Amino acid sequence: MINHERLDNLLIELIKIDSLSRKERAVAMRLQREMESLGAAVFIDDAGEKVGGDVGNLIAHFPGTAAHAAPLLLSAHMDTVVPGEGITPIRNGDILRSDGRTVLGGDDKSGVAIICEALRVIRENNLPCGAVDVVFTICEEAGLIGAKCLDVSRLRARTGLVLDSDSIGFLFTKAPASNRMEFRVHGLEAHAGMCPEKGINAIQVAAEGIAGMRLGRIDHETTANIGVVEGGMAVNIVPNQVILRGEARSHSQEKLDRQTAHMRQCLEEAATGHTLELDGKRHTARVEAKVERNYDRMDVPDSAPIVTLVHSAAKRLNLEVKTLATGGGCDANVLNQKGLVVANLSTGMRDIHTVNEWLDLNDLHFSARIVLEILRLNAAG
Ligand SMILES: [Zn+2]
Repeated sequence: MINHERLDNLLIELIKIDSLSRKERAVAMRLQREMESLGAAVFIDDAGEKVGGDVGNLIAHFPGTAAHAAPLLLSAHMDTVVPGEGITPIRNGDILRSDGRTVLGGDDKSGVAIICEALRVIRENNLPCGAVDVVFTICEEAGLIGAKCLDVSRLRARTGLVLDSDSIGFLFTKAPASNRMEFRVHGLEAHAGMCPEKGINAIQVAAEGIAGMRLGRIDHETTANIGVVEGGMAVNIVPNQVILRGEARSHSQEKLDRQTAHMRQCLEEAATGHTLELDGKRHTARVEAKVERNYDRMDVPDSAPIVTLVHSAAKRLNLEVKTLATGGGCDANVLNQKGLVVANLSTGMRDIHTVNEWLDLNDLHFSARIVLEILRLNAAG
């Protein structure tokens, strides 16, 4: 029942509308028209003002015809990563790519297009369907901040799906919690040639600290990274400050806390090893640490009704969808944190966040069929 051509065309149309994070207005306006033409009441929330963007999250309420069916949430994000302006999708058979200068934006326009097509099929065939809340978020790629601003009391649904992942045939039910860290390592400035003994080299302190850190893959459920190093003024100045930015992720809260403390401790230990006495005053390198929770973990049990609904829908189509844990975070982390039960269904996007991003339209159709079947099965009770 999914109209492949219509779905493909909508995806391509959406991809051609620029929508970098905080600049999603044009695509939101297009989707508002789409949702209203399908009979939904559409609201745009105030998340745009809160994050300094040009539009908020789009919330569409479909009343539904099957009154006994539990309301379902379907969500995808409207923003894309850089380079993502002037995207020119190129179709070769069933494969869609960019022209190599930008990402494709299948992340997450594929999820958006699938939701629109499934609801259009319901509408044009007058199929029974429960109430559906569609949420198209802003600024997912900027740190899930659109979803963080979403007031879930505006939703009737307490469970549902985010369509925003790349491994086709998989439903992501577990995702790690993540901490974001900023470390400011303070040394002491001095002339590097005339009096280096009066300085404490913050770059060296930071380097020693990093060298002692366990980073990368820590264990099967924990990862850590130092991703940004900024510091130093000139080659002839002993640098007095370095800023390090990093993150840690884990499916276990305890391991996340331990890894975060370990990274901080490595730097603090390195700092205590760098002291000097100057004009009767003792100077020691020091570290200022700022740690914040980026997002909480997602842990939807296999027994959750939304998971069994996805399994049953796939089975009725003779398809298979397996549950899986991911190392990434998405809006589903935030929605689960806000008390909803939301899993993340794949859409067919591949090699995302690179200019080599591509998508097999057959995968897109696969996901759309499952979403449609989920809506039908949910209405059937
Ligand atoms: Zn995404």
